[in-house]
Amino acid sequence: MTDPRSPSRPGQGPQVAASEAQRWAHTARFVTTASRLDQLPVGELPEIAFVGRSNAGKSTAINTLTQRRRLAFASRTPGRTQHINLFALGPKDRPDAWFADLPGYGYAAVEREAKLRWQQVMADYLAVRRNLAGIVLLVDARLGLTDLDRRLLDFVARRVTTGEVRLLVLLTKCDKLARRAAAASLRTVSHALESMASEDADIGVTLFSALKHTGVDDVTATLRAWVRGASATEQGRAPRCDPKSTSGRNCGDAVAST
Ligand code: GDP
Repeated sequence: MTDPRSPSRPGQGPQVAASEAQRWAHTARFVTTASRLDQLPVGELPEIAFVGRSNAGKSTAINTLTQRRRLAFASRTPGRTQHINLFALGPKDRPDAWFADLPGYGYAAVEREAKLRWQQVMADYLAVRRNLAGIVLLVDARLGLTDLDRRLLDFVARRVTTGEVRLLVLLTKCDKLARRAAAASLRTVSHALESMASEDADIGVTLFSALKHTGVDDVTATLRAWVRGASATEQGRAPRCDPKSTSGRNCGDAVAST
C-alpha cells in the first residue's frame, strides 16, 4: 500500500475506462476568454485549471489530452497572452466540467507591471475560484519546479492540503530525458510536494510527453475521475485517486516513492 500522504502518480480513481475518458476529453470546446476574474462565468461545474511557466508545454498538453489540434493556442509572443480561456466538456446541452487554461508565467520580456498584475489575478483565481476542483501544473521535466512554480503552489497549498482542490503535476517533454534523469526528476518533484501532503490531499506527479504519448491516457482518466468524483460526492469528499498506475512507460519506469 502506498503511503496516502505521499505524492503519487495518477491512477484511475473511480474506475474510468480509457476510451470513455478519451471521448469525454474530446468534447472540449471553447466557451469564453477573460482578462479579469469577474469576467469568468460563475457556476457549480467542477473546473480544472491548467497552469505553468511559458513554454512548459501547456498548450501542447491540452491539445493532446483533448485530441484537438488547436484548442489551446501556443502564443506567438510567449507571455503576451494574459487571458484565462475556458473550455466546456461533456454533452453539448449539459456540460459537466470546465477546463481553464491560465496564462503562462515567467516569460522574461513581459513588463514588470503586467507581471505583477497577472500574479495577482492568478493568486486570486487559485485562492478564491469556488468551483476549482483540480489543478494541473505543467513543469518541464528538465527544469523541475522553479521559484515561480513554487510561488504558485504557495497560493493553493491550503486548498490542496485540505483536499478541496486536487493537484496533478505533469513533468512535460520527458522524451527529452534519458530514463534515469526522468526518474530523478520524478523523485525530486515528488519530494518537493510532500510539504502539502496530508490524509485528505490528492496530489499526483507523473512523467508526460505529448510527443511519445507518455502518461496521456492515465492523465485523461484521472481528470475524468476527478470530475466524476466531484459530481458524485458534491455533498462530501470525492474519492481519492489510486496511486497504482503505470504511466511513464517511455520515459523510465521509476515510481516516485517518497
Ligand atoms: P506553452 O507555452 O506552455 O503553451 O508551451 P507549448 O505547448 O507551446 O510548447 C512549448 C514548446 O515545447 C513547443 O516548441 C512544443 O513543440 C514543445 N513541446 C511541447 N510538448 C512537448 C513534448 O512532449 N515533447 C517535446 N520534445 N517537445 C514538446
